[in-house]
Amino acid sequence: MKNSCWVFFFAVVICCGAQENNISPVLHPFTVIRAGVLIDGKSDSPRHNQVIVIRGNRIESVTAAAAAKIPDDADVIDLSHATVLPGLIDSHTHIFLQGEDPAQGGYDVNILKYPLALRAARATVSVRRALEQGFTTLRDLETEGAGYGDIGIKEAIEGGYIPGPRLFVSTRAISTTGGYPLEGYAPELDMPTGAQLIDGPVEARKAAREQLSHGADWIKVYMTHRSWVGKNGELVSQPTLTVEELKAIVDETHGWGKKVACHAYGGIGLHRGLDGGCDSIEHGLDLDDAAIAQMLKQGTWYCPTLSAYYHDWAPADTPEGQRDRKRVAVHEVSFPKALHAGVKIVFGTDIGGIPWSEPIAQEFPHMVELGMSPMEAIKSATSRAADMLDMQGQIGVIAPGAYADIIALSGDPLSDIKILENVQFVMKDGKVFRNETK
Ligand SMILES: [Zn+2]
Repeated sequence: MKNSCWVFFFAVVICCGAQENNISPVLHPFTVIRAGVLIDGKSDSPRHNQVIVIRGNRIESVTAAAAAKIPDDADVIDLSHATVLPGLIDSHTHIFLQGEDPAQGGYDVNILKYPLALRAARATVSVRRALEQGFTTLRDLETEGAGYGDIGIKEAIEGGYIPGPRLFVSTRAISTTGGYPLEGYAPELDMPTGAQLIDGPVEARKAAREQLSHGADWIKVYMTHRSWVGKNGELVSQPTLTVEELKAIVDETHGWGKKVACHAYGGIGLHRGLDGGCDSIEHGLDLDDAAIAQMLKQGTWYCPTLSAYYHDWAPADTPEGQRDRKRVAVHEVSFPKALHAGVKIVFGTDIGGIPWSEPIAQEFPHMVELGMSPMEAIKSATSRAADMLDMQGQIGVIAPGAYADIIALSGDPLSDIKILENVQFVMKDGKVFRNETK
């Protein structure tokens, strides 16, 4: 068998290296997964009875079981009664937020009451929760006043100190004066804010440079802030950065080979975001036809975060309650319109705003109820998100050369998308983190 020579060669290299470095040898460089059903993240239909050969942290081959050559000393993981998928990607999370329950002090207590070490400890739990549920990659869109804490958590995961997904982090995020909480305190007080506030293109570019130089993988910008129901019953959202301010950030960020994610609900702020060259629109509750046409033309990604807007509604007879209901009403129109127009949609939850005790996969049924096919919804959380993250072929797919980020569950998510909440097997980087399939 051709592979056994490689096994021998590899084993010799490992053993000799191990003696020199006094570390225990790796006895099984190959892991093999038998997949009953394989949804590979990219293909339009599943395949049955596949064998996935993993070498170290990468997938080496994916073949039909009948034709598969299994290396002699491989560890075999039998998932032949399960559906196997690539590790999932949530493209909009907040590992440093823990829900914003008004009864527990809402957003403000995160910044006013919690020591940074407490927030970091809880972020450690957040990332573990994500990994347990099969989310092996997160794009985390700002620390909400916890500074560059996301860089530290990412380093802790990469260093093997704590378990967690691959993180793409955006550090502090950028908005304008009057464009982000904390708000509503006495004007004499100089309050901290959840994002870095700038005014003018010079400050905007400087903030982007600071964040990029400290390791931001993405830059997050708030293009809208407060929202309310206008006098004609429409959703109004307050714009924040000008096009000139945003263009300075986008120009700087693109120069570093990185991308800009823009929080925008609709209206003036959304259009400034598109005119300024945002790479992804976050939330995009109220997309008019012109915005959808511009997103198609510019190849802008859409991360709708539907789940976030079904939580914590204020009473229906209050302005806030009317706004909460209006947000969902316009979102449920925007999403199908963008979907049918062919806008590139990625899965994102805004979890953190939603408590981390809740299932992340709750976003899938919302997408499917609004017209997305279950396979497209899975792709939005696998290969399509990988494209947005410039990780095509590396993550979000089960194919030769990709990282061995693999999950499994019993049942068919294509006939019942909700079962993605019940992931039973999680492998990241070729290492089994969780296996409850037996
Ligand atoms: Zn968010």
